[in-house]
Amino acid sequence: MRIAEIFFSVQGEGALVGTPSVFVRTSGCNLRCVWCDTPYASWRPEGPEWPLPAILSDVLRYGCRHVVVTGGEPMIAPEMVPLTQALARAGRHITIETAGTVYAPVVCQLMSISPKLANSTPG
Ligand code: SF4
Repeated sequence: MRIAEIFFSVQGEGALVGTPSVFVRTSGCNLRCVWCDTPYASWRPEGPEWPLPAILSDVLRYGCRHVVVTGGEPMIAPEMVPLTQALARAGRHITIETAGTVYAPVVCQLMSISPKLANSTPG
């Protein structure tokens, strides 16, 4: 899966604001919002392809219970279902930040959906 960055920080928004979390930012998005502040994870996707075991070991090394999977649009990443299953098996609390346009049977405790309007679709 293409990964823009994996880093430790504090959740800055939503129901878990202030919670120390490991962020997994996937690269690539199916939308084109004019206000997008992460073009490197959207229409100019950057970052290497990571095998699933490497993502898992990088996330788990922080020893942090909360994991936030964000993007880009994480729900279009082909291995998102097995990634969330593995994180759940490791006892992690999973938040997925998504625009909510794609369904996949992921495992998560919190789905943070940020709906977009028609003017966010690729022209
Ligand atoms: S959905 Fe998010 S990542 Fe995708 S283009 Fe819009 S703001 Fe950027």
